[in-house]
Amino acid sequence: MDRNLHIIGGGLAGSEAAWAAAQNSVSVVLHEMRPVRSTEAHRTDRFAELVCSNSFRSDDWENNAVGVLHEEMRRAGSLILRAADANRLPAGGALAVDRDGFSAEISSALENHPRIEIRREEIDGLPSAEWASVIIATGPLTSPALAEAIRAHTGEESLSFFDAIAPIVHRESIDMSIAWMQSRYDKGDGADYINCPLDEAQYTAFIAALLAGEKTEFKEWETSTPYFEGCLPIEVMAARGIDTLRFGPMKPVGLSDPRQGRRPYAVVQLRQDNALGTLWNIVGFQTKLKHGEQIRTLRTIPGLENASFARLGGLHRNTFVNSPRLLDGELRLKSRPRIRFAGQITGVEGYVESAAIGLLAGRFAAAELRDQPAAPPPQTTALGALLTHITTGADEKTFQPMNVNFGLFPDLPAADRARGRDRKKLIAQRALADVEQWLGLSRAAAE
Ligand SMILES: Cc1cc2nc3c(=O)[nH]c(=O)nc-3n(C[C@H](O)[C@H](O)[C@H](O)COP(=O)(O)OP(=O)(O)OC[C@H]3O[C@@H](n4cnc5c(N)ncnc54)[C@H](O)[C@@H]3O)c2cc1C
Repeated sequence: MDRNLHIIGGGLAGSEAAWAAAQNSVSVVLHEMRPVRSTEAHRTDRFAELVCSNSFRSDDWENNAVGVLHEEMRRAGSLILRAADANRLPAGGALAVDRDGFSAEISSALENHPRIEIRREEIDGLPSAEWASVIIATGPLTSPALAEAIRAHTGEESLSFFDAIAPIVHRESIDMSIAWMQSRYDKGDGADYINCPLDEAQYTAFIAALLAGEKTEFKEWETSTPYFEGCLPIEVMAARGIDTLRFGPMKPVGLSDPRQGRRPYAVVQLRQDNALGTLWNIVGFQTKLKHGEQIRTLRTIPGLENASFARLGGLHRNTFVNSPRLLDGELRLKSRPRIRFAGQITGVEGYVESAAIGLLAGRFAAAELRDQPAAPPPQTTALGALLTHITTGADEKTFQPMNVNFGLFPDLPAADRARGRDRKKLIAQRALADVEQWLGLSRAAAE
């Protein structure tokens, strides 16, 4: 048996995983297919290439969940954050980087690490049975041969080639004096959905706003990927006829607005999105509207006037597995525990989130290879909140990629909740205190 840790994919997640494991005294073989074979988005042969924006988003750890994640990763010895900080460009409160300097620094760190061997090759099937421990970190544009092998092993329903993300709303921002809880025909528990009613004038205005709103175009290579008809954006449905949405995701059948005592003209439904009940997705509302337009248009829906969005809708080419169904709490494939997944392919979204899951996968795999315990980070940390969401918190039936956000963290104790405006700061402070404790425990276990 080959006792090296084999990592497939040297993107944001694979690079971070390789570094985390090698720093934990494990020998790593990193398989990266570029430049032998490239993806539709990558341009170079460097590790951790940023394929689009050069921003890691907000670096404000006191008020922004991705800022908390940055800070936790710094404390956990992240290579990605170290290189980002060293190649930082002025960008207000955001962490933006010089992309060439950033990926050159990552490449040099990996190439010069005594415990990392680099192989430039595509892995075109399930990893060799000889490899005791593997991390698949091949990202949203996983090569077709490997994607097909994963799909054949995990099943049709467990690997997606597109994300179809409906906007997700923070529950506390929904006006429940207008919206009400009810399932269609009172099925299930009878009150599983939040319903926002529209009268005819409101519905007509909403359709007009959808049609007028500015959209993001598909990239040329995205239009050739199948599965698109099955998850049409709402603006495309609206363009097919004024009543298409009213007979589709906005149909009011089986519902009665308690304040009117009758069925509304149309309805927008929200379904619980995480076990904590803090996040609710708008059912069937995947959209390519530009983000500003989405916020403006969705806030015309009665009950959502003050909606705050945990994430906005989108539709992209994106290969990802159904993590809540397939993976255990340490990112291992339940059916083949020697294989872990990391990065965007696990259903997180974004450079930082992908690297964060790489960091965890690298640490878990290293601990396992060294026969040491690997306690996952507590859910009160950003690392733990993200990990818990993809492995157990999210509903496997509606699983779609997710950014880190404060809705993924457990709420504060009642006494702290009362402090209202400081809520995010308190969650962030708790996260950093808890991550320190977790890192301390992990260090002690490794000694
Ligand atoms: C077009 C596009 C634009 C994006 N823009 C942004 C953005 O602006 N901001 C943001 O935060 N996120 C963005 N993302 C989302 C995501 O955060 C990034 O894709 C991020 O790079 C994901 O990290 P990763 O390590 O999971 O995958 P990647 O960084 O894509 O790394 C995967 C690596 O695996 C390699 N690989 C693939 N298949 C194989 C194989 N079979 N064998 C060996 N190697 C293989 C690839 O060459 C690649 O180097 C974008 C995604 C796409 C597709």
